Amino acid sequence: MAAIMVVASAQNTRLVQKGLIHPDQACAVPGRRITDSLVLIRDTICYARDRNIRLVVLNLDFEKAFDRLSHQYLFEVLRKVGLPDRRAILNLERAVFYFIWGSKWERVRREVLKKPKEKGGKGVPDLPLFLGARFTALHLALATSPSRNPKTTAFTRFWMGSFLRRKKFLPIDLRVPVSFNLPLFYAFIPTFLKRFNLEQEELQVLTKHRLLISCVQGREPVSSVRGLAIGEPSQVWRNVNHPALPNRLRDLSWMVAHEVLPVRSVMHSRGLLQSATCPRPGCGAPESVRHLLWECSAAVDQWAIAGSLQFPYLPAGEVLTAQLMLYGVGLSPNSKKDFTRIWLTLAATKDATWTSRNLLVGRHMQIPPVAVIRMAAATVREAVAAGGGP
Ligand SMILES: [Zn+2]
Repeated sequence: MAAIMVVASAQNTRLVQKGLIHPDQACAVPGRRITDSLVLIRDTICYARDRNIRLVVLNLDFEKAFDRLSHQYLFEVLRKVGLPDRRAILNLERAVFYFIWGSKWERVRREVLKKPKEKGGKGVPDLPLFLGARFTALHLALATSPSRNPKTTAFTRFWMGSFLRRKKFLPIDLRVPVSFNLPLFYAFIPTFLKRFNLEQEELQVLTKHRLLISCVQGREPVSSVRGLAIGEPSQVWRNVNHPALPNRLRDLSWMVAHEVLPVRSVMHSRGLLQSATCPRPGCGAPESVRHLLWECSAAVDQWAIAGSLQFPYLPAGEVLTAQLMLYGVGLSPNSKKDFTRIWLTLAATKDATWTSRNLLVGRHMQIPPVAVIRMAAATVREAVAAGGGP
C-alpha cells in the first residue's frame, strides 16, 4: 500500500513543484534514480569527514518494494483501486443496459432503471455511484477508524490530511505532517461527494458504502405513471413487484406502467416503425398499450370471457376497470382481501394477450379468445404451484 502511494505521488509532479517532495528524493521522480541516493549518502559522509563534522546516519524504513515489484503492476493496481477509468465504466454500463433490453434500443432512461424497484426502477446498480461509494467509504474508514494496520492509517491520513482537517474529521495537530494537495486518486473523493450531493453527510455515513448509496437513492423521486387516474404511483410500483407475480409478469407489468411495451405506437413514436396501426385485421386504431390490453375488440372479447364463469379466478360481480387491469388500483373495498388472486390473474391475462398479439404479428397465427384465456389460466396455475399465488 505504502509503495503504491509513493509511486502515485510521483505521478503528480505538482507535488515536486510545490516542494512537498524533497529535492533529494530520488525514487519514482522522473529523471532521478534510486542510485542517486547512494551517491548522495557517500558524498555527505565524505563532506562531513573532510571537515571533521559530527554526523549520524539513520537508515529508516528502506523498503524493497521498488526493487521487487513490477512498476507496471503497481500502476495497474493503482488504476484498479484508485483511479477508475471513466471510459471503462461507461463501456461496462452500456453493456449492462444493452443486455437488459436485449438490443441497443433502450426504452426507459437509464436513471429510471437505476432507481429502487419501489420507486419505479429496476434496481440496476449505478456503477459510478456504487464504485465511488466503495472507494470513498474504504479510504475514509482507513483514515478515521482505529486500524490493525497503523502504517496504512498513517499513510492515508498523511495523503488525505488537509481534506480530513478541513472537514473536521481529524483534529488539527501541527506535530503531524500532512499533504497539502490531495493526490490524484484522493482528489476523486471530494469530487464524488460533490457530484452526488453528499458533502454534508456525517462521518458515520461516509465510512459505509451502503449508507452512501441508500442516501443517494433515498432522494430519488418516485417515477410517475402517465395513465394513472386514481391512487398513488408508489402503489402501482408496489403492485408491479408484487411477490405473487413471477418475474416474467413483473417485467410485463413494469413495461405496461412505463408505457414501453413495444406495441406499434411506441415503436412508431421512436421512429422504429412506419405504421402505428393495430395489427388486428380490420381494427385500424393506433396500437397503444391501453389499446392492446383494453380497447381493441380482441381485448374486449378476452376480458368478457375472463369475467365469465369459464374462468373462475376473477371474482364474479367485480367491476373490471382499465385502471384496475393496468395498474391494480381502484379495487372495490370488499374485494381487497382477494387482491393477490385478482392481480395475478390480471397480469397473466395481459401476458397471454401480449403473447397472442406477438404470434399474430410474427407468425400470422390467430389465437381465439378462449385459447388466450386458457393460456392465462395455465400461467396462473403455474405461478400458484411455484408458491407465489394465493
Ligand atoms: Zn386493435
